[in-house]
Amino acid sequence: MQCLDCGYAIDGVRSGACPECGRAFDPNERESYRRLLHDPVRVHSAGSVGVAYTMCVALEDAGVHAVVEDIAGGVIGIAEHGGGAVWVNRADEKQAEQIIAEFAGRNRGQAWTCACGEVHEPAFEICWNCQAPRPG
Ligand SMILES: [Zn+2]
Ligand SMILES: [Zn+2]
Repeated sequence: MQCLDCGYAIDGVRSGACPECGRAFDPNERESYRRLLHDPVRVHSAGSVGVAYTMCVALEDAGVHAVVEDIAGGVIGIAEHGGGAVWVNRADEKQAEQIIAEFAGRNRGQAWTCACGEVHEPAFEICWNCQAPRPG
């Protein structure tokens, strides 16, 4: 884990704030800090960070450590804008590709639009933006 602002290593920091610059983070909030891979390999490029983030969650749920790269910013970490790429450790690449293929297999049918205005691909059951469940 790294501070989003200054890059300070915050593994094991329990105060909820970066000891270096004071930026607050929450270990339960993936977007509040940056997580690094020791041997990164890109396994997917998504049209939006939202899509990449949802894949990242699916990978994490399967036990694969994954991060999202903001293509516009070129930073490996969670970002808010532009396209997103999913990175995993090289050792997890095969498993990650399987999980992403399954994800893509479920991704058939109609895109849907959340009440908050976010448009989602069919595989999404929950809005990544506001956490509202898919209607219907
Ligand atoms: Zn910091
Ligand atoms: Zn929403």
